[in-house]
Amino acid sequence: MSTATLTIDLPAIAANWETLDRLTSCETAAVVKADAYGLGVAKVGPALARAGARLFFVAAAEEGIQLRRALGHGPAICVFTGHMPGDADIIRAADLTPMVNSVDQLLIHVEALPGHPFGIQFDTGMNRLGMEPAEWSAVHDIAIAQKPELLISHLACADEPDHLANQMQLDCFVDMTEGLDIPRSLAATGGIFLGEKYHFDLTRPGVGLYGGLPFVDARPVVTLDVPVIQVRDVAAGESVGYGAAYVAKSETRVATVAAGYADGVIRAMGAKATFTHEGRKLPVIGRVSMDAITVDVSSLAKVPEHLQLIGLHQSVDTVAEFAGTIGYEILTSLGARYDRVYLR
Ligand SMILES: *Cc1c(COP(=O)(O)O)cnc(C)c1O
Repeated sequence: MSTATLTIDLPAIAANWETLDRLTSCETAAVVKADAYGLGVAKVGPALARAGARLFFVAAAEEGIQLRRALGHGPAICVFTGHMPGDADIIRAADLTPMVNSVDQLLIHVEALPGHPFGIQFDTGMNRLGMEPAEWSAVHDIAIAQKPELLISHLACADEPDHLANQMQLDCFVDMTEGLDIPRSLAATGGIFLGEKYHFDLTRPGVGLYGGLPFVDARPVVTLDVPVIQVRDVAAGESVGYGAAYVAKSETRVATVAAGYADGVIRAMGAKATFTHEGRKLPVIGRVSMDAITVDVSSLAKVPEHLQLIGLHQSVDTVAEFAGTIGYEILTSLGARYDRVYLR
């Protein structure tokens, strides 16, 4: 077999949800947008529901259809992008709860689906999604009369606990929502670690469930083992890969493994990346190509059948650093070609 094996540890995802849930005294939702951060919502959603999650978030209404199929009736499925024109049929059929982001969306929603559950997302300073304070003042009474079920906002800098924006967004959120007696939610993974003031009635962790920072103590979830297709010895002075970008300084044993940027092993990782074998780091040499990567395995007495990119010895965030990006991007880029194995 020449495709890599992506192993996804469902009990670890459930354990991460339980740990994050225990860190607060409020309810804990589960964010499963983008196919559960690339790990497969059809498997991940039910695993989280079994762990106790009763409320889920997706980005788009279309993602809600698939999640509803996986979860059946019961759990609430909220949609961050709100109620977009044309979404009404999907929202009704899959029983989704849009988080409306503007007065326009509020009007679309109450006209198309009067009485259908919805929430409101506020912009408290991130300037990405949500009603702004002035907009909210203008429609406040009309909106409340429609009985929104949840009020949310999102922190821009929660992964930097000392960032002034956190307190400013918190104050703004409190100003906009105090005294309404409607459940509120501000914290994603990072916000959970900012303390109780940020928790309100519901937290919305995503990346922490999947083993990513800023949940430092998360259980690792993903393992990526890539088969070795070929091994050769390269003499001093010979080059390896496209652009002859790597030139061997001395005789080097080179293993070619079967993954590349088409599988989300992004090319920008280039020379900084390592694979591992039983904890030993093995440098990537030359450029990452579409389906193949060359690795210096000179330090191994025997070349194994697989080398590992992500696992116990190298986290998703470590791999992200190779490419100057974040764990979120590595997870959501994980390729469609992998043989996906789910631990139950
Ligand atoms: C993605 C997202 C989350 C989850 O964020 P994590 O940092 O992955 O925990 C929560 N709320 C909103 C609005 C989001 O867009």
